[in-house]
Amino acid sequence: MADRARQRKHPDKLVTYIIDRNINYTNVCDVYCKFCAFYRTEKDKDHYVLSTDQICQKIQELVDIGGVQILLQGGHHPKLSIDYYFDLLQTIRRPFPAGEHPRFLAARVHHFADVFKMPLDEVIRRFKDAGLGSIPGGGRKSSLTKSGKRMRR
Ligand code: SF4
Repeated sequence: MADRARQRKHPDKLVTYIIDRNINYTNVCDVYCKFCAFYRTEKDKDHYVLSTDQICQKIQELVDIGGVQILLQGGHHPKLSIDYYFDLLQTIRRPFPAGEHPRFLAARVHHFADVFKMPLDEVIRRFKDAGLGSIPGGGRKSSLTKSGKRMRR
């Protein structure tokens, strides 16, 4: 049925795409999904947080090959400040005004509401004001136990 609908809407069989880049700004995450080989804790030697300059360099590499969209995809870092994200969004907006609408996954936005102790609608409004382009679905929402610790999955 989906294929018939597609053929009806796009009878010329034209397929389009955009070039998009996921930028993993940190691998520190306290959700601990059992299947995940990406996350590190701050005690691990190979944990990292990318600077705004490093992220701008990655965006430039994307722009250089005709890319138009980025997903800021990092772990649920428990200690990154809201200023880190705002500086990042505001900085990347300036040199790349032509169309890099940075996105965070919905699960990350939920994480921001948790760690910044802020209502979700306020998080969305403030991040949007800082330059957030959109919020695609995906990612895993972290859960806090009654003691405030993250739940291991
Ligand atoms: S939330 Fe993402 S980065 Fe964190 S442990 Fe789960 S899959 Fe890994």
